[in-house]
Amino acid sequence: MIYLLIGITGLVLVAAFLFIEMSSFFGGLPVLNYHNISVGNNYDWHNVTTGQLRKQFEYLNKNGYTTIFISDLLEHVEQKKPLPAKPVMITLDDGYRDNFTNLYPLLKEYNIRANIFLVAGFIQSPDNKHLSPNPMGEFMYVDEALEMSKDLVQFGSHSYSHQSYAALSLPEIEIDLRKTKERLQELGIPVQPCHAYIYGAYNQNDDNKRAAMFELMKQNGMRLAFRVSNWVDKLPIKNPFFISRIHVSGLFPLWKFKVAVWGFIKIFNRLESIMK
Ligand SMILES: [Zn+2]
Repeated sequence: MIYLLIGITGLVLVAAFLFIEMSSFFGGLPVLNYHNISVGNNYDWHNVTTGQLRKQFEYLNKNGYTTIFISDLLEHVEQKKPLPAKPVMITLDDGYRDNFTNLYPLLKEYNIRANIFLVAGFIQSPDNKHLSPNPMGEFMYVDEALEMSKDLVQFGSHSYSHQSYAALSLPEIEIDLRKTKERLQELGIPVQPCHAYIYGAYNQNDDNKRAAMFELMKQNGMRLAFRVSNWVDKLPIKNPFFISRIHVSGLFPLWKFKVAVWGFIKIFNRLESIMK
């Protein structure tokens, strides 16, 4: 009898926990985070293939999701402008060239909006040929960024040379923010006042430094910043400098992508690691 009661209590607790998480999804904004978009069977943690992406875009379109831009989220956060009924935000970090060659044609085909966070110093232009080859991969050209910015892509910044802000002092972060902004201006790439933390890192262990970093962001014209936590933030967003994103891995089958969009991937990953 006692075991039955413990069992039922356990189930009720799990159900209550899931419900709280579900409500965070139903009233929340899933922000997906990608890196490289590859072709063929070249998928891994960082690489999602165009074949996988087609299925994911089809799923979003068929199920009534609307992809939004950084500027839509800004208007929502700052002016309380309503978001569409099932909003989802697609973000890509670093600014790889394959975002132009492999992703952009699919954005047009499926009418999907995306937001790319650029590493300012890595963008290819006639004046930085000395940078290539870059050990992280090949990065997009200025004219490719400009072409995408005409319709389905908005840009945000992702530092000057991909150094984690968790490893930099506050004055160093400020220098990086300024250099990044200046370089993007110099290249003429339209960029939203928005930053994605490198490796999703944001001074996790030091609350004071983190608060000071948010302040620094504000002083340098930033109005939104994203981390990677694999949660879905509830709306309205509590802290615009601490918005959650969900990493989409090329190792996800389609059903795991759906779990990620619903906002349950962190719970699912935990259950999976317990069961191993
Ligand atoms: Zn990155």
